[in-house]
Amino acid sequence: MHALMKTVATIVGARPQFIKVAPVSRALAETGQVREVLIHTGQHFDAGMSDVFFQELGIAAPDHHLGIHGGGHGAMTGAMLQQLEPVLEELRPDRVLVYGDTNSTLAGALVAAKLHIPVAHVEAGLRSFNRAMPEEINRIVADQLSDMLFASTDAAIRNLEKEGFEPGRIFRVGDVMYDAALQFAETASGRAAALADLGVEPGKYALATIHRAENTDDPVRLANIVAALEAVAETLPVVLPLHPRTDARMKAAGLAFARVRTLPPVGYLDMVALESRAAVIATDSGGVQKEAFFYHVPCVTLRDETEWVELVELGWNRLAPPVGGGLAEAILNAVGSKGADAQPYGDGRSARAIAGILVR
Ligand code: UDP
Repeated sequence: MHALMKTVATIVGARPQFIKVAPVSRALAETGQVREVLIHTGQHFDAGMSDVFFQELGIAAPDHHLGIHGGGHGAMTGAMLQQLEPVLEELRPDRVLVYGDTNSTLAGALVAAKLHIPVAHVEAGLRSFNRAMPEEINRIVADQLSDMLFASTDAAIRNLEKEGFEPGRIFRVGDVMYDAALQFAETASGRAAALADLGVEPGKYALATIHRAENTDDPVRLANIVAALEAVAETLPVVLPLHPRTDARMKAAGLAFARVRTLPPVGYLDMVALESRAAVIATDSGGVQKEAFFYHVPCVTLRDETEWVELVELGWNRLAPPVGGGLAEAILNAVGSKGADAQPYGDGRSARAIAGILVR
């Protein structure tokens, strides 16, 4: 092995993390100076939520798969802490790399910090300022435990500065999901079959996703979203790849779609095809808000707040809290709207910037 070779242990577990890891793993390999060890906690584990991303995005098979999923936050995070510790103790990597805001992010950062292994956090500094969200807790703790904070946006940097992080720990690198969008744009452009199968035409449907606990686990909000999407579907076809949690909560609440065209979670390439050809996107996903912007599709965010504030400021996105009425109108009114021209997520070379900093 190269004398200067560094070992980086990357800890992932959930769908959005697989998409973020793809460009970064590639960039780390390109440096020729990093041995990356990929640890998959198992948080998302099945073919549609995990395997398809490894295949489509060319991510190496995980070196360790912990197979932890289900249960409450405590049980899941606890199992991760317990199983990650011996793996990192044995591996003794030079650094641990975590992404985003899931339980896998929290557990990875916590175990590493306690073993005195330096932690780098990709997508640091995002804040919803809503501590009722599990994601907000995970990202605040992960940032605290990290000595390298890779921030996607100016807003994220401002948040970190306000919280008193030393400027030397903060790195403005741009957003790795934009790298992924550029890297896989051409491959995804051949995926029109996804639309034909659904019986919708380019530019003539709404795409929706729902998975955030604040929506799925609140029967009133969930019923409100279901009713709004059904109302939209009366005038504009609605396509909805259904997250397993949303599916389970809908069944438990006795809710069902009649007009909305649901399908199982799709792979990244089909998702890009669906997003880039939609007339409007309605979502509570963080990643999907950004992707709507990458493809210049207007977005309606079914939440009370967003971490991606620049998209609202630029006019590409608007908030529609799923309480009370007006949701369907907000979605239909967004069709045809455009926002200002801007490049808030970097130049598509964020992963290379991260890799460069890590080997420095
Ligand atoms: N995504 C996907 N298939 C789907 C739904 C989403 O590939 O059926 C992708 C989407 O394109 C984006 C990422 O998953 O890249 C977003 O993940 P998710 O919405 O689960 O989490 P969040 O971004 O809210 O953390």
